[in-house]
Amino acid sequence: MFLQTVWYIFLAVVFGPILVSSEGIDSYENYYNEIHVDDEQAEAKTRNALQSPLQRWPGNKIYYRVSGDYSDQEVTNVRAAMTSFGEQTCVQFEEIEGSPPAGKRYVFFKKSPNMCGTRVGYQPLSFGPHEVVLNERCLTMPAVIQHETLHLLGLFHEQSRPDRDEYVKIDYDNIPRKYWSQFMAMDQTTTFNVPYDYESVMHYAKNAFAKDPSKPTIRALINGEEVEREMGQVRGPSEGDWTKIRLMYKC
Ligand SMILES: [Zn+2]
Repeated sequence: MFLQTVWYIFLAVVFGPILVSSEGIDSYENYYNEIHVDDEQAEAKTRNALQSPLQRWPGNKIYYRVSGDYSDQEVTNVRAAMTSFGEQTCVQFEEIEGSPPAGKRYVFFKKSPNMCGTRVGYQPLSFGPHEVVLNERCLTMPAVIQHETLHLLGLFHEQSRPDRDEYVKIDYDNIPRKYWSQFMAMDQTTTFNVPYDYESVMHYAKNAFAKDPSKPTIRALINGEEVEREMGQVRGPSEGDWTKIRLMYKC
């Protein structure tokens, strides 16, 4: 039962003007559906989940299908993102048109008018495809597609690492309470001993979810000092992001 619990990192794009100079992944993601847990026991177990082999895709080969309503350019962007995983890691994505081989789950890239998001990690007890929902804005950015793919492979956001309090200071006063959960540290997930990476494509920008975007919501901690610096980017996975996938999937 507990594995039916799903971690949704579900979001929708902010269509309004981007008030911040540094556009981070959080500019593409706006979390309407937050992490769902069915009950306390489920939470306790799920917090370990991404250290669990059960939440890794088996076989290091993942089938994917792209919805028929994607434009040629959008399909091209998805394929480019998928190809990058095959080049940088031992996880191979293979496109299918129809059904996957019997017994195999697959990733289904779907379109949405507003949402972009997916569940974190392999969902062994779910039925049907593992959906990645993307809107047209997210689909213009291969790095956003890579970001969602890192989620489905098992990564949370970088600033949710269990050791993040050594590297960042969150200013909750500048964050609406309804978004506080987006800054939760995942105590029982693993860092794979990869150094904290402000340049991770999984990291929020410094003023993510800010009430006052002229002030940071996340400051770096350098030698214990709070320092304002850029963080997060939407150019593509960092070396640390790739390394974590290589370690998670035993490349
Ligand atoms: Zn995300």
